Amino acid sequence: MVTRRYGDVSFWSSPGSPCGGRSTPRIAIRGAVPYHQLTEIAAPLAAGEPACPPRLRTQAGRITEDGVMTVSSAIWRDQLTDTERATLGRGDGVIADPRPDVLVVGGGILGVATAAACHQAGLGSVLLIETGRLGAGATGGATGLLIPEPHQWSDPEPFVDLERASLERWRDLEEAVPGGVGLIELDWIGLAPHPGGFAAHQPPAVEWLSPGQVEHFIPGLARSMEGALIRRQARLNPLRAVARLAAGLPAVATGVAATAVTVRGDRVTSVATSAGDIQPGAVVFATGQPPVLDGLPLRLPSVRVKGHLLVTEPAPVRLPGIVAPIATQIEDGRLLAGGTFDVGDESPAVQPEVIESIMAGLAATLPALRGLGIAYQWCCFRPRHPDRRPVIDRVPGLENAWLTSGHFRTGILNAPMTAAVLARWIGGGGPPVEPATWSASRFESRAGR
Ligand SMILES: Cc1cc2nc3c(=O)[nH]c(=O)nc-3n(C[C@H](O)[C@H](O)[C@H](O)COP(=O)(O)OP(=O)(O)OC[C@H]3O[C@@H](n4cnc5c(N)ncnc54)[C@H](O)[C@@H]3O)c2cc1C
Repeated sequence: MVTRRYGDVSFWSSPGSPCGGRSTPRIAIRGAVPYHQLTEIAAPLAAGEPACPPRLRTQAGRITEDGVMTVSSAIWRDQLTDTERATLGRGDGVIADPRPDVLVVGGGILGVATAAACHQAGLGSVLLIETGRLGAGATGGATGLLIPEPHQWSDPEPFVDLERASLERWRDLEEAVPGGVGLIELDWIGLAPHPGGFAAHQPPAVEWLSPGQVEHFIPGLARSMEGALIRRQARLNPLRAVARLAAGLPAVATGVAATAVTVRGDRVTSVATSAGDIQPGAVVFATGQPPVLDGLPLRLPSVRVKGHLLVTEPAPVRLPGIVAPIATQIEDGRLLAGGTFDVGDESPAVQPEVIESIMAGLAATLPALRGLGIAYQWCCFRPRHPDRRPVIDRVPGLENAWLTSGHFRTGILNAPMTAAVLARWIGGGGPPVEPATWSASRFESRAGR
């Protein structure tokens, strides 16, 4: 056993873990499963599952004039208080201090959490700039699930370690931030498509559920299924978390885009923005996708992967937390479902057929949901590097510039620990353990092939 340390959190994991790629999935779904979309929370629906065309009742008022519904149509904004909503537009167009000790570029969850961690670590004056409003990118459209344990079946071990440590840090923030960050603890249940459909070697955190136990937790399933129960996972409204963290920041400028950098020797000396130049002591780029700025010697491969989500009207069922692949029950008994991976779909518009397929999946699994209305539907894009791991690194060749990008499907979960790692590094504490796992230079050989 070895200890890994991210920031000041230690945890244990086995040596010899497959840092370089995806680990062998430890969950086996039997049979050929004809699902065309994998979801954030998903095990797939069963083979041969009958399609149940849903009766959709969409709130027409939520469709914008051009029919495009992206992250601004998400439920999260409607759940905020006026104060929280106002915080998302803090410091509109105004750079209060053009010479901050730390400048953070990008006001998604990674940027806000990093600015908060730098401020908390006492690294001097901290300025956050964001081209739109805080949380306007992938963050504002995310599902908001914080579920490290199910990722044992899909993510490499160092990654799951990071996720576990980060969930603990979210718990710490819930205590430390005034009013909390809106963390909701809940259990996760994964349904197997066939009895015996999970592999035998389950990690200790997983409790096996017989079909009878599953029926007890989730009455009314279309058919009998085994399940896996993992306790003490969590979720949050990502925009609320952004607003609560941003409220404690000393300086935020929304509506300000970084456009270029000036590099002298091995240092960024100036960042040009739409509201004037900034001369930071250190700079962190947290722009979702890797930053593409004039003068910045950085080109990293990345793509974006679209996902659709929906929230139903209050449902006539009670789910015990997150039920994969069905849905997560949120406030007012509504169901939050989807998180599709619509590879190759670059359109910013919600595709009705994807929404219909999510609803069809719900109704096929729980017939009581047939005809349930849809209150919110939206889509957004996950930033992803080719190996699906984020970059958490110093910009190669620069002494005072860092970046974090490509957090793909777990950026909300991994934000606080990524932020803690960066703040520690900027403060002179050195890189994270296993830096190669998160390095920007890991793509160089790939590019050279
Ligand atoms: C459908 C879907 C479901 C998801 N579900 C989950 C989930 O359940 N759990 C989870 O952990 N993760 C989830 N994710 C992933 C998560 O949303 C992302 O990994 C995370 O939001 C990335 O955060 P970020 O801050 O890096 O990027 P973003 O949120 O995109 O923020 C980057 C910000 O930088 C700003 N910016 C860019 N360039 C500049 C510039 N030049 N100057 C100033 N500002 C700039 C952008 O405007 C943007 O606001 C989901 C994603 C999707 C799409």
